[in-house]
Amino acid sequence: MRFRIILALLSCLLLSPREGRAAEDALRVTLLGTGTPVPSPERFGYSTLVEAGDQKLLFDFGRGVTIRLAQRQIPFGSIDAHFLTHFHSDHLVGLPDLWLTGWLKPAYGARSAPMAIYGPPGLRKLTKGLTEAFMRDIEIRLADERNPEAGIAFDAHEILPGVAYERDGLRVSAFINDHGPLVVPSYGYKIEYRGHGVVLSGDTRYSEEVVRQAKGVDVLVHCVTVIPDELLKQFPAYQAIYQHLASPEDAGRVFAEARPKLAVYSHIGLNGTAREPDLVARTRSVYDGPLQVGRDLMSIEAGDVPKVVNPP
Ligand SMILES: [Zn+2]
Ligand SMILES: [Zn+2]
Repeated sequence: MRFRIILALLSCLLLSPREGRAAEDALRVTLLGTGTPVPSPERFGYSTLVEAGDQKLLFDFGRGVTIRLAQRQIPFGSIDAHFLTHFHSDHLVGLPDLWLTGWLKPAYGARSAPMAIYGPPGLRKLTKGLTEAFMRDIEIRLADERNPEAGIAFDAHEILPGVAYERDGLRVSAFINDHGPLVVPSYGYKIEYRGHGVVLSGDTRYSEEVVRQAKGVDVLVHCVTVIPDELLKQFPAYQAIYQHLASPEDAGRVFAEARPKLAVYSHIGLNGTAREPDLVARTRSVYDGPLQVGRDLMSIEAGDVPKVVNPP
């Protein structure tokens, strides 16, 4: 008995530091919302959480981002930095909710410092406009609930391509993708932490820059839209979508050229009769590597063999 207790104590002493280090080194991606503007209870608006050690970063803020964070029991005020890829509404309609609800005092909010947000030029106009639009609510809560004034301020950084954020070994770089000639700038992001790498393509059609950034990374999260051939024939206007977003063949080509350890789909558009098996089959016509179709609240641990954790 005594021997067993000593053994248990010893294994605790031996395992804890290693496990602690593993948690510190971990880079984890959680797909909070994998959808598009289509209102869907299964696929909320596009938003991705990245956790590196004890830092939490949020990329884009689609519809329902607060609900998904709450499902993960992550207080909105605990996000260290927020990053916007571009100004399409499906990537930021969740921002006012996240910003305002995150300022409330209960545990789900509790932001007491300015909300750090990074994005393309034009970001300050957005944060200034939001502050103006919600000024009456802000005034009321300052007087009535005495919420901390700093918690409703934005700390907005308009960034150019290159390193946007660097802290405790975690680095985020923005790069230009290809979301069509009129949607400029539109960014993708590369996240690097302790030898691990994740690339988020952002909204893009086939882009050589995404390939360049994602060469050999652990995880490449790419957008995709599937339009059945008969739909394209019947309504040629659908072709315009492919001028902005990758088809399964486009994304598959990016995966085949970049060879990430795991290719993941998020921001998934299934048009007409298209379903997930069509998406996979069309991707497989050009790419035979590891592939995961994302779901809301799915997590991926970066590593030599990225590990997918499905939502409960
Ligand atoms: Zn877009
Ligand atoms: Zn979009």
